[in-house]
Amino acid sequence: MPTLQSSEAVVLKTIDYSDTSLIVRLFTEQFGKVTVIAKGARRSKQAPAGILRPPNHLAVWYQHKDERDIQTLTKFEFVTRYSRLSSDLAKSAAAMVTIEMLDRAIHDFDPHPILFRLVTATLRHLNLSEEDVSVMLHFYQLQLSRQLGFAPHLNTCMNCGRPLSEAALDLTTGELMCIQCRPGGALRLPPQAVDYLQDLGRIHIARLGTVHPPDQAKKEVGQFLLKYLFFHVDGMSNMKSMTFWQQVQAE
Ligand SMILES: [Zn+2]
Repeated sequence: MPTLQSSEAVVLKTIDYSDTSLIVRLFTEQFGKVTVIAKGARRSKQAPAGILRPPNHLAVWYQHKDERDIQTLTKFEFVTRYSRLSSDLAKSAAAMVTIEMLDRAIHDFDPHPILFRLVTATLRHLNLSEEDVSVMLHFYQLQLSRQLGFAPHLNTCMNCGRPLSEAALDLTTGELMCIQCRPGGALRLPPQAVDYLQDLGRIHIARLGTVHPPDQAKKEVGQFLLKYLFFHVDGMSNMKSMTFWQQVQAE
């Protein structure tokens, strides 16, 4: 017997299926990543299919059966409308990176309510605030690594324990080390970049507007966070959204 489940959810990916239906991958707050079919959604007038697109934050109801991979969506509605994301290229590119990174980092039916709150808070913040979009994205990436259980040590060298002021990524362990320990380490972070990273590590999302790193530090930390996530999460490389985000940044 199917059971009716309900949860808040973020749309990760949507694929057209037949003339009338959609296959939708969701990150639900209650049940983790779940794939559903929205039968007839492409024709429905009551519930426009445009709602079922990333990165929308919805309430969903679906019929769940253990023995099947794709569950049946029965009802959906907005929880939050991100009305400003679609009209701002940098914001929508950053939102897509947020979603694609999440999709690649999590597994089916593995609920993670704190990660759900992080993602929805990041999207809400991207939508509403006028703050630096890259700072928001860096904050999210750092917090994502923390929620997935492999946050970098930002304050002391993993090898010798000295306070970090200038650092390098050690590519055998995927950890930050001081430059005395890793003089030839990949991706060197000068003191301003380490300062910025440390600020990101201790600040609350509501206070991100107070962080104003120099452009160079932002660039270096962006590169570091990507390399760091690639190292620790299988399948994080070659993200289309990241290529798009980098193009938007370069313009
Ligand atoms: Zn060291």
